[in-house]
Amino acid sequence: MPDEIDLAQEREQLATEEAIRNAARDIPKGEPGDCELCGEWTGRLIKGVCAPCRDNYKLG
Ligand SMILES: [Zn+2]
Repeated sequence: MPDEIDLAQEREQLATEEAIRNAARDIPKGEPGDCELCGEWTGRLIKGVCAPCRDNYKLG
């Protein structure tokens, strides 16, 4: 059933593209600066906190 396989692949691709779009929307855009918690400079501060500190303090 070639048609069904094509449809399944198309659905899967659409789902993947939607997941990528959702992920991109959920990740806040970082900005460069010094972390408020550890003082380290990072190119991707989010709300003033670097990625390792967000992990350490479970800030998400
Ligand atoms: Zn930090």
